[in-house]
Amino acid sequence: MTCPICKHGRLAPGLTSVTLERAQLTLVFKSVPARVCDNCGEQFLDDSVSAALIEQAEAAAKAGVQVEVRQYAAA
Ligand SMILES: [Zn+2]
Repeated sequence: MTCPICKHGRLAPGLTSVTLERAQLTLVFKSVPARVCDNCGEQFLDDSVSAALIEQAEAAAKAGVQVEVRQYAAA
């Protein structure tokens, strides 16, 4: 698959960190599976992964979490 940003690189599977911020919440996920462009470094998350991150961020926000770093765990 060719990178849609730079149109030159190829997307390769890798791991990245993702930070989600809400009004009160900063949540950092480590070891998130992503596809990373070998040319420009742009990272792309699968829809199922980004949906899981948003779901976990909403649960954390409801639980009153303000700052947290966690390992990504697939649902
Ligand atoms: Zn690229």
